[in-house]
Amino acid sequence: MGSNGESQFTVTKTLIFQIIGIVALLSIPSLLYTGSYIVSDAPAPKEGLEPAPNPDQRLSEGLLFIVLDGSRKDMMKDSSFMPNLNAMVDEKGTYIDVLTGPLTMTASCVKEMATGIPSRPNEGLNNFHPEHPGTPDGWTLASSYDGDGDGIADNEFAIVGDYVWGDLYADNDDINFMKHRYGHSDYMQGDTESFETMNSWFDGEIPESNTKEGVTFDRTPNVIVAHLSGLDSTGHRYGSKDSPEYEDKLLWLDGKFTELFAKVPENWTVVVTADHGLTDSGQHGSPDEVIREVGAWMWGPNIKQSHVVEKQIDQRDLATLPSLLLSLPLPHAIHAKFPLDALNVSEEEKQVLDQWNWNATVERNQWMEDNGHHSIEGLSSEVIEWEKISSEKMGLRTADLVLSGLFFVMICISIMYLLRKNGLSLGLSLGSGAVITAVTAVSTIIAYNQSTALDDLYYPMGLITPYFVVGFSLYLLINKNEKHTRRIVYALLASIVLMLTFIESRFSSLGLILLVMLFLPMFTKVAREKQTSRVLKLVFVLVLIPALFLSHYRGIGFSLPRMMTFFSFKVTLASIVYSSCFMMSATYIFVTRNKTIQKQSHRAAVTLGFTSIPILMSLENNVVDWILLLGILGTVIYGFVLKYTKPEQASDLIPLAVFFWLAMSWGGWVLAASMVMYAAVESFLQKEWTVLHQKYDSIHQEFARIVLVTLLPLVTWFTWWAALGQIDGIGHPRDVDPGNLFLNGGYIGDRFSPSNAWVGFMGGGPPVAMTVLWWSLFHKNNWPVHYVALLLVLRISLISLQLSLAPNLPRFIFKISWDIIFALGLLAMMSHILISSYREHRNVPIAETV
Ligand SMILES: [Zn+2]
Repeated sequence: MGSNGESQFTVTKTLIFQIIGIVALLSIPSLLYTGSYIVSDAPAPKEGLEPAPNPDQRLSEGLLFIVLDGSRKDMMKDSSFMPNLNAMVDEKGTYIDVLTGPLTMTASCVKEMATGIPSRPNEGLNNFHPEHPGTPDGWTLASSYDGDGDGIADNEFAIVGDYVWGDLYADNDDINFMKHRYGHSDYMQGDTESFETMNSWFDGEIPESNTKEGVTFDRTPNVIVAHLSGLDSTGHRYGSKDSPEYEDKLLWLDGKFTELFAKVPENWTVVVTADHGLTDSGQHGSPDEVIREVGAWMWGPNIKQSHVVEKQIDQRDLATLPSLLLSLPLPHAIHAKFPLDALNVSEEEKQVLDQWNWNATVERNQWMEDNGHHSIEGLSSEVIEWEKISSEKMGLRTADLVLSGLFFVMICISIMYLLRKNGLSLGLSLGSGAVITAVTAVSTIIAYNQSTALDDLYYPMGLITPYFVVGFSLYLLINKNEKHTRRIVYALLASIVLMLTFIESRFSSLGLILLVMLFLPMFTKVAREKQTSRVLKLVFVLVLIPALFLSHYRGIGFSLPRMMTFFSFKVTLASIVYSSCFMMSATYIFVTRNKTIQKQSHRAAVTLGFTSIPILMSLENNVVDWILLLGILGTVIYGFVLKYTKPEQASDLIPLAVFFWLAMSWGGWVLAASMVMYAAVESFLQKEWTVLHQKYDSIHQEFARIVLVTLLPLVTWFTWWAALGQIDGIGHPRDVDPGNLFLNGGYIGDRFSPSNAWVGFMGGGPPVAMTVLWWSLFHKNNWPVHYVALLLVLRISLISLQLSLAPNLPRFIFKISWDIIFALGLLAMMSHILISSYREHRNVPIAETV
């Protein structure tokens, strides 16, 4: 592919499409076959119980198990917020550190606590309505097990509070579920009712079941699960750390505990824990320590007093408590360990209990082996070897590895064949295949061994690789002498393959080039009239600084974009003024940036409209919300009508409608960042960046140009995403983190009890609309956005091939599955453009030499 000797090799659009098509097609088997294994429900035996060694000797006569939704360990442990809870444990109980699974959503955490079966990534998508796997668990046994054979279950089990637990056991009429939960803005009422119900049970009353019609309960429960969600809602709305509302809610709960605990019989065990923690600004979902690390406070008969268990337990271990404490059989399905360190029993008794636990584990392993699932070889009930049991590994399957290996070889052969067919010499065609194979092998080995030797290489490589791609491309574009060209072209190809195959590649790390380019000749050496205004460049830089440099949460302990976003959600005079100032200055810059809005009065009206959003939102009034939402809808419809009737007048209406929605839901800073970036990029597209439209005669320069043209929209989008506080600086392990999304806007239009779908729509909808707007902006300015689509397709394909290695690496599963979902989302949001570019290019001869 150099200039001499290879002149017959031409890169045509057909060739590029063929290569991408082949890669995409041949990665589908891995995506489907291995992908469905990864998201399938964890296998678990549907029957099989290990009888308790001493069924007649229970450690406890009752169990009160309280789950505080979204309760931070550090704040719960603080006696100034929960004096009573901590005093109970200091005096007569045990404290244990608990680690949740990496997916910190209520449904997956509750499911693990209830069933003892590891949650799979797909369960995060099923957050509010977990499904019971149908295996026996400690709680179902507590509701039905009849050990003494008198025809009546030995225990009576009831659930109060949120529907997550109720849903899990919805089909079980032996369980009394008292639902006390009224949606996302129920901070108090549900919890208050839950305490009333529990108090009445302890007083000997049996309130009528409010979920199971026609089913009556004739005795008070001795096993109770209470899932109290008001704290999580409070945290989502007001933040956790330094939030008076969250602190007051903890104090309130602790006060209610005092009254309740006084009524709990002495021979019962009480456990208080959390499903997951919260970030400072009240989010969860990602595997951050502050979210995964929760606590368990417990006391009762045979529980150590004034004790702190040294070793952290898994959240799933809590699922063993009904069996352990009430001497019910231990289901083989439970993949967990007894928290024996919390028990105040003799060493011999402990050994008996440990053996019981181990026997069930051996049975589970045997079942896994018999049914062709991942199992551990050589386990026997004679030797207890807990160290062999890993809870995180799903188990690699040979079939997945063979499949991905086979299809990778086919991809290489196809690419070599296509290159050869298009005139590349045999040597260079084989060489290209070798480069692809070598780079993929290196990237996979580094990723797979991240936790061992190559840790130092792992994250930096993901951040730096995209810069190599940009660097080599720029070198080819700028450098006129052709001396090293061939070597640089190879280096560029290799770094592109590395960027696309390496799991940890971070497109978002490239944000820096948006800043650096302002000082390149492309910007500085153009004619005046081709330059973006100084003011616009300056405010653009002001937005980039927090997004690029002050968002590194792990490094500097805070993320300025997140703080600035979160501050605008507060309903105080300061935050309303703050938000309004952002809105006013950004809107003014936006409406005056070009000549589309000519009339001074129109500019003033638009600016005033945006400036008043913070005040209107602070009213928290559904009528106001709906007037504004209908106004947005009307503007969009009017915008589309104009687009087809008087296109010259329509240009800003739809963007303004999207910005308005974004401003209502995400506040002043996000609006300012989005408007400024939009205005600046629009100007770059019409001025400085037009130089990138010029095609080059030399094949490698043209290739380099296409690489840059492909990356720029993606870089712009990710930098905007970072300005929204969605990426924790360059050290953030992922480009996407569902735990960073702000869903505060989800209450707009339904202030009391919005459904999950509404919260998702009003909170997540505006950034989606804004993303569509971004791709449209590029498209409108004749930018080939469909190249970005091709890049994303390649990325999805190449990481899908590595799914076969993921089952034993939870981090891999998360990274790959989120990246795939995210890339598919970005693709979906440009589908309108892909359709129109297909229409435009349909009649253009496709075999065009570039
Ligand atoms: Zn939550």
